[in-house]
Amino acid sequence: MPEENCIFCRIANGEIPSAKVYEDENVMAFLDLAPVHAGHTLIVPKKHIKDALAFPAELASAVAAAVQKVARALVAATGAQGFNVLQNNGLAAGQTVFHIHWHIIPRFEGDGLEMWRQGSYLDASAMQEMAKKISLAVQK
Ligand code: AMP
Ligand code: ZN
Repeated sequence: MPEENCIFCRIANGEIPSAKVYEDENVMAFLDLAPVHAGHTLIVPKKHIKDALAFPAELASAVAAAVQKVARALVAATGAQGFNVLQNNGLAAGQTVFHIHWHIIPRFEGDGLEMWRQGSYLDASAMQEMAKKISLAVQK
């Protein structure tokens, strides 16, 4: 069901214009209007799904196929040497539109873009402890 106030539902059903680059039965892809680099594309399922936790596995292959198709085309069209596939979940992670989407961002050698800063664990046991905590939660 489309959500009335969801901008990506409205784009997907044609109510709001977009710079569309690809569409099939399940997904649509259009340019992000505030691109990291020109050609930065968003892939959305046509169905309203909030985030990765609500995303049904049945749609995964449709999205994976669209990501490959669009990424290949975007690399060819922009001359990019690589690309990032990013997907934000929750406000804290930078999600601003609560209709799941995958960012496909063209990347150029030496473009200087730092996507994130990595840290370290205090020691090996802190790392093991974290792994244990997560693996126990996975089993729940
Ligand atoms: P996120 O921060 O991961 O939720 O990404 C939302 C993205 O949607 C941002 O990069 C915005 O620039 C982009 N965006 C928001 N509204 C539109 C729109 N009407 N058309 C194209 N891109 C949009
Ligand atoms: Zn939506």
